[in-house]
Amino acid sequence: MSYDGQYPHEDPPGPEFGQRPRRGRGNALIVAAALVPTCLAGWLVWQAMSGPDGDDPPKVLPLPSASSPSAAAPAKTPTGRGPEPSTSSSPSGSPQQSRSPDGDPKPPAGPLSGRTVVVDPGHNPGNFRHTREINRQVNIGTNSKECDTTGTASNAGYTEAEFTLDVSRRLKSILEKQGATVQFTQNADRPYGPCVDERARIGNAAKADAVISVHADGSAAGHRGFHVILPARVNSGAADTSSIVGPSRDLGTRIVGNFVRVTGDAPANYLGERTGLVVRSDLGGLNLSTVPKVFIECGNMRDAQDIALLTDPSWRQKAAQGMADGISSFLKG
Ligand code: ZN
Repeated sequence: MSYDGQYPHEDPPGPEFGQRPRRGRGNALIVAAALVPTCLAGWLVWQAMSGPDGDDPPKVLPLPSASSPSAAAPAKTPTGRGPEPSTSSSPSGSPQQSRSPDGDPKPPAGPLSGRTVVVDPGHNPGNFRHTREINRQVNIGTNSKECDTTGTASNAGYTEAEFTLDVSRRLKSILEKQGATVQFTQNADRPYGPCVDERARIGNAAKADAVISVHADGSAAGHRGFHVILPARVNSGAADTSSIVGPSRDLGTRIVGNFVRVTGDAPANYLGERTGLVVRSDLGGLNLSTVPKVFIECGNMRDAQDIALLTDPSWRQKAAQGMADGISSFLKG
C-alpha cells in the first residue's frame, strides 16, 4: 500500500506555495483503499464523500454500465523536455478565422460548427498570491468549500496551473479547427480563480454542449497514469446532477478511450480500478454543472515518469488531441 491518504486531485502543492499538507483523514482513506479490491470485484469506482476540503475518504459504488478502454497501453517513452511553447492559444497554428460584425473571431466551418465547448483550465497561476481570496468558502450545493486552490506542482516547480493552461490552449486550438466555439473559464487573464462555483456557472451560462476541466494530480511517486472524474448523482441545495450524470459518463468514457489511443498511456494505476474513470461528489465544478462535464487528471506531477511526460510539449499535444477526439466523438454522438 503506497497510497498516502491524500486525495489525489486535491493534493496540495509543495511548501513553496505556503499551503499546509492535508493528511487529516489519511487513515480512513488507507483503510478504504485496502478494502476495496478485496470486497468488490468488477466495475468499481472511487467516490469521495462530501467534505469541507475535498479530502474525505472515498467510498466505492458499483458501476455496471462502466466501460473500460480496450486499447493497448504501450510503455511510455518520454521524448525529453522540448522547448516550451509561447503563450499563444494556437500552439499548432491557427486556422484562418473570419470575424463577426462585433469583431469576435468566428471558428471555421467544420464538423463541430454550432457546438459550444467550455474548457476549464484548473487553478490559476496567480492563485498562490491570493490565498485569502481563494480560501474563501463557496457553496457547492452539498456543502461549502474553498473558492479555489493553488493546485499541485512538480518537485522541480512546474506548476499544475501552468500545465493546465498549456494543455487547454492546445485543446482549444484543435476544437476550433473543427468548427467548435470554445470558451475558457480563465486564461491567466485575471488575478486568481474563478471560484469553483463560478467555473460551473460559466459552462451553464454558455449552454455548453460539453465542459472539460483540465488538471494534473499530485499523488505519491509510483502512482501513474491519467483518470477522468465523473459527476456523482447529487441532489442537495443548488446541486442537482441528475440530468448530467448519464451524458457526462458518455463524455468521460469517450475521452478515456481516445486518450489511451492517442497518448499510448494507461489509465491510472492507483484509483478507479484501472478503468480511468472515477466518480466524485465533492467537486463544486461538477456538482453545480447543469451541462455535461468531466474533469481530467492528466497524470501525476509527483511521479518521475509521469512528470517527464507532462513537461514534454509533444506529449501535451497528444493529450490535448486525445481529449479533443473524445469530446468530438461525444458531440457527434
Ligand atoms: Zn487540480
